[in-house]
Amino acid sequence: MSDQTKYLLDESRIPKAWYNIQADLPVPAPPVLHPGTMQPVGPQDLAPLFPMTIIAQEVTTEREVEIPKEVRDIYRLWRPAPLYRAHRLEKALGTPAKIFYKYEGVSPAGSHKPNTAVPQAFYNAAEGVKRLTTETGAGQWGTSLSFAGNVFGLEVLVFQVRVSYDQKPYRRAVMETYGARCLPSPSTETEFGRSVLAQRPDHPGSLGIAISEAVELAAQRDDTKYALGSVLNHVLMHQTIIGLESMEQLHMANTEPDVVVGCTGGGSNFAGIAFPFIGQGLRGGKKARIVAVEPAACPSLTRGKYAYDFGDTGHMTPLTKMHTLGSTFTPPGFHAGGLRYHGMAPLVSHLRNLGLIEAVAYTQGECFSAGVLFARAEGIVPAPEANHAVKGAIEEALRCKREGRSETILFNLCGHGHFDMTAYQKYFSGELKDEAYDEKELAMALSGLPSVPAEYA
Ligand SMILES: *Cc1c(COP(=O)(O)O)cnc(C)c1O
Repeated sequence: MSDQTKYLLDESRIPKAWYNIQADLPVPAPPVLHPGTMQPVGPQDLAPLFPMTIIAQEVTTEREVEIPKEVRDIYRLWRPAPLYRAHRLEKALGTPAKIFYKYEGVSPAGSHKPNTAVPQAFYNAAEGVKRLTTETGAGQWGTSLSFAGNVFGLEVLVFQVRVSYDQKPYRRAVMETYGARCLPSPSTETEFGRSVLAQRPDHPGSLGIAISEAVELAAQRDDTKYALGSVLNHVLMHQTIIGLESMEQLHMANTEPDVVVGCTGGGSNFAGIAFPFIGQGLRGGKKARIVAVEPAACPSLTRGKYAYDFGDTGHMTPLTKMHTLGSTFTPPGFHAGGLRYHGMAPLVSHLRNLGLIEAVAYTQGECFSAGVLFARAEGIVPAPEANHAVKGAIEEALRCKREGRSETILFNLCGHGHFDMTAYQKYFSGELKDEAYDEKELAMALSGLPSVPAEYA
């Protein structure tokens, strides 16, 4: 049975609890600070933006947090997600390594993001919230929240980064199909949006600006809250369902991973596949190497500073300690839109700082050629973001070939690329350029980091 291709679990095997790595950390993560008082934030500071259940999940140190039945009932539409053994890719590479990938593209949105959109919508609806605001770049998170909001009867308002709004009309059409309202950001509906437009009427927008707009609206109305698709502790925890299922599926294949690979934008799909395995190692079980793969043009883990910073451009969010390129840093316009964020999840940053994970960066050209090799071997066209994980896994498999080792490699194929075919077209026509970020701009963004009291610095 050990050379099966597909490892499927029955619906009854959907995990009943998420895994919370905060229970197993050797050192707790640094506190989140209020930007006004510079003191750790309390639940009341976050209450205008999030429902209480989610605020509690943000700080809990309980190891297992129950997944509500209502959430599991929606997860059943696509979960448990399949785990594949990449036999044909192994053969194409001539590697003795065993490559496994967890495929999250089977969700309604085509990525891992509904894993957290569904519980977030559920908890908001359960606490009487009527409307959610959020931001989206390429549109994957906006699509996921629109889907989940519709399931639980919530209105959803999505601020979509202007360039994507103009260039990716299909994503917007999907959000509208689920009943959401989608606005280009910067917009005229918020004070912050109007201030950005006053300075530059043709502003292309950025995730940082769109976050500021969504937060501003949520803070103003009692019936409206905000939902974030990555970075925060509760989001990472909801995604651990990926790693928990993979663990069981690899067990069916009679193996355990030596290396776990994921791509990192804000860090959620990476955390989802990796945290259960890191936790196992922290509790004295088998330790796998854990590799985060990021774009060379937005390298927060490999080139950023580990420091307190804002999550948004308008400086409305609390300060978190994370690997950051600075909140004013604008990465060049590469195609993995989901990876164009200046910061990194505080928990992922903390683990990196503790030396529990490794990080590497690759250019988009290298990642697309890995993605094309993968598609030709395995049949699935990966999202541009997922190509980074594919590239990371291929590099590990080639190392195994050089060293003559038959290690087990697990990676997360976090989404399909069906809405990203323009990027593939550009790759084939040779128009896809590897744009480097501006070193001067990075230095400037880093020099503008907020200063915090010495005890937290
Ligand atoms: C949003 C997205 C990402 C980046 O977000 P993470 O929080 O780092 O996972 C990566 N891949 C896909 C397919 C996405 O939709």
